[in-house]
Amino acid sequence: MSEYEVELFRRENFSRNRCEKCGKFFWSIEKREICGEPPCDEYRFIGNPPTKKALNLHEMREFYLSFFEKNSHKRIKRYPIVARWRNDTFFTIASISCFQPWVLNRTIEPPANPLVISQTCLRFNDIDNVGKTGRHLTLFEMMAHHAFNTNEKFVYFKDRTVELCHNLLLELGIPEEKILYIESEWSGGGNSGPCFEVIVEGVELATLVFMMYEDTPSGKREMDMQVVDTGYGLERFTWLSNATPNLYEAIFGDVLSRLKREVDIEENENVIGEYSRIAGMMNVENSTDLNLLRKKVSERLKIEVDELVRIIEPLENLYAICDHTRALMFMLNDGGIVPSNVKAGYFARLLARRTLRALKYLGLNMRLSEILKLQISYFKRDFPELNENKEDILELCDVEEEKYENTLLRGRKIIAKIENELRNNGIREISLNHLIHLYDSHGLTPDIVREFSNLRVNIPEDFYIRIARMHEQVEVDNEELEIDVGGIEPTTLLYYENQNKRKFKARIIKKVDNFIILDRTCFYPEGGGQEADHGSIDGLDVIDVKKIGNVVLHKISGNLNDVVESQEVNCEIDWGRRLQLMQHHTATHIINGAARRVLGNHSWQAGAHKSENLGRLDITHHSRLKREEIDRIEKLANRIVEENREIEIKFMPRDEAEKIYGFRIYQGGAVPGGEIRIVNIKGWDVEACGGLHLNSTKDVGGIKIINAKRIQDGVIRLEFKAGTALEKYLERRMEIIRMINADLPENELDDIANIFSVDIEKLPDTINRFRSELSLNKKKLHDLEEKIYEISGKRYEFGNKYEDIVIDSAESARKLFRDWKSSQKDLQRLKNELKNLLIREISDKFESGVERNNVKIVKKITSLLSVGELIEIARKSTPTNGLLIIASIDEDTANFVVYSNSNLNSLSIARKISKMVDGNAKGDKSLAIGWCSGKNIGSVIENGLREI
Ligand SMILES: [Zn+2]
Ligand SMILES: [Zn+2]
Repeated sequence: MSEYEVELFRRENFSRNRCEKCGKFFWSIEKREICGEPPCDEYRFIGNPPTKKALNLHEMREFYLSFFEKNSHKRIKRYPIVARWRNDTFFTIASISCFQPWVLNRTIEPPANPLVISQTCLRFNDIDNVGKTGRHLTLFEMMAHHAFNTNEKFVYFKDRTVELCHNLLLELGIPEEKILYIESEWSGGGNSGPCFEVIVEGVELATLVFMMYEDTPSGKREMDMQVVDTGYGLERFTWLSNATPNLYEAIFGDVLSRLKREVDIEENENVIGEYSRIAGMMNVENSTDLNLLRKKVSERLKIEVDELVRIIEPLENLYAICDHTRALMFMLNDGGIVPSNVKAGYFARLLARRTLRALKYLGLNMRLSEILKLQISYFKRDFPELNENKEDILELCDVEEEKYENTLLRGRKIIAKIENELRNNGIREISLNHLIHLYDSHGLTPDIVREFSNLRVNIPEDFYIRIARMHEQVEVDNEELEIDVGGIEPTTLLYYENQNKRKFKARIIKKVDNFIILDRTCFYPEGGGQEADHGSIDGLDVIDVKKIGNVVLHKISGNLNDVVESQEVNCEIDWGRRLQLMQHHTATHIINGAARRVLGNHSWQAGAHKSENLGRLDITHHSRLKREEIDRIEKLANRIVEENREIEIKFMPRDEAEKIYGFRIYQGGAVPGGEIRIVNIKGWDVEACGGLHLNSTKDVGGIKIINAKRIQDGVIRLEFKAGTALEKYLERRMEIIRMINADLPENELDDIANIFSVDIEKLPDTINRFRSELSLNKKKLHDLEEKIYEISGKRYEFGNKYEDIVIDSAESARKLFRDWKSSQKDLQRLKNELKNLLIREISDKFESGVERNNVKIVKKITSLLSVGELIEIARKSTPTNGLLIIASIDEDTANFVVYSNSNLNSLSIARKISKMVDGNAKGDKSLAIGWCSGKNIGSVIENGLREI
């Protein structure tokens, strides 16, 4: 007896056939030659439904779920499409994903057994085919009934599964002779088993998998559990019952018809139907396949390929828009995803940008958020949560569209630059690598590149499938300490029994390198972003604590020569540090809850770190935070502190926690095990977290967000202080204020730091520097004004504009900065004026001067000019056969320049002068500079120059 021969087949006398075309075995009530699955056969239901009546998505889902409910299955709510409970994948790709790994590895019980679900799933491996093949989607609902059989409890397996499937199809009105079961093998994720593909009228409606083997290095082994893993395509069922030319026409309802009205589409059902019928028989994977498909269809319809493309391409774009926006809606709804260029956000942006390009192709003047609005109103009946998050979803779309428009503005320049480089290298084509780079780094889709570029651009039909594949890998960091703890008893974690215990006795189990392992410990090892405890073990300093497996290792500074294994020791935690770490950790959860309420549902934790000095929380958000948003988050967080809410911590079965609190508990990512530790700040925030927390929120003391910055596309980092660190911080601020001016209002300190672009620590020095520079500038201005008056008789009075400024407010700081800046400008202006006057004066002197040995020599002393300015004057005023010696003297220093346009050597003259004035010189024949300093340097130089 074949392992595929189930009770139904025996009872109803099914025949086991072998397909004449593909050779596969399949079961049917009547004898048949062909398996019925494309490419052996083609779709036979288009225009001719095999079901009793046409059901829409909603009706079909309801029909399915209630059918299984009637047959004693429990209906389970869908899981999010963002698979937060797993760390190996971003998205839920099948209904069984919901139960991997925890149910399948028997860590937890299934939520019901047997159960039925309609699970939203997301896959990007066919994204380029969406809209083109008549059946591919990125988001789809996989309806499924699952049964989990163990040695203790047998639910049902093959016989009942096939019977249920069969009865379901019969109840839909499908004639039994049209139902075929193809024998097949399934494998995935290290498991495998036999399966049936269920075919009706050429379309594969369902797969019935009997997961029963585990792949091990020594071959297949039977699993502890036998799993009924079925998958029924909701969209395909709906299509079958509506018998529309393709799947899209059956499922997108109001959204599609509304868009069609906007575009004025030529609808040719015959062409579309034929197209999807033939597409159904082909596995379209690349451009060759697609071209072949188009050729086949045009032959069959007897029209030109160009004509075919003209008819179907607008529709393909419309279908893609419907699919992509539906998927995007669920992604943005299910939490924690903001379109970006990394991780899961990458895929949201991919959908958004492809949609925007399709809209452009169609000349459809609609915003992304308008289409999302249509989707939400169409789907809210089945998914009320979409309506609840509507504002948030639409805002994310608007922000993303704006970013896209900015990308386009920058795009032309970026592409022109690359094009230039390529042309210079004689390259006439933009390569695939360039296209990938332009998309990944600049968000420019290949068709934009084609539009903006004059070079040849070949876009592979599977471009997006390729880049999606490159980004699907989830990075898991495995930074592990390499110490073998095999055979060591798990450490008793006293900190979970009582997080307030500071002193304890324990026994030393082992010492390895400079680590001590105890039988029990209150020392919290580094984890969940919380730094490790410090303290002492029998007087030895504990400087770090790590956990490997279930064993805690205490790192000791100094040597362990005197440590005796099995000895009892007195241990003590550095309580100041621990309390501070708990304050920062609890504050992290409080702020996380506040950010979600202020920014929207898309705001999730993307990372966190708690040290003694600072807390850090990274959250997903689309834009930089406005001051007002930061203030609201901070205010809300402090209200929660004030309200002194209780913090309840308990271990709970994973499934129970998910049921009560939802998947939002996985803020810190996936957590292992069947029992998870839930930290519940009553009425505010619930997270699965292994860290140590205070008993109630008031113990946090207070929270101040001291910095908010964008650290990555779609991620904002909040830095904050709480508890003692906050007190110290505030004290230090007061100290700084006193250093500047005791009358300065505390809340203006940050504004002042911003004015000077320094952090507040540097503020007193910075302000002093600006003030003394301003008064120095004032003096220089007066000097320059004097000088200019002497030469030209012209009076400037810039110097009088500036007064000494006392910093007692942000306004006065702003004035200091403004005055400093404008005094710099005035200085430059007067210097230029002086320079020009000197150039004129020196030129005149050269003209009227006397030649000695064919050379005219001019000497000039001035002040307030730099060496560069002296050189400029020399270049502009020295004629042929001229030599200029010009010096600038300020207080006790002087610079001079010797510039020769003659046969005299500048450097030897400069050396002569520097010898006389005890200075230095360097340069060459035509230009030399010298410098010197000392008391009365002015008259020294004057004497020196006279000698030359
Ligand atoms: Zn076949
Ligand atoms: Zn935590």
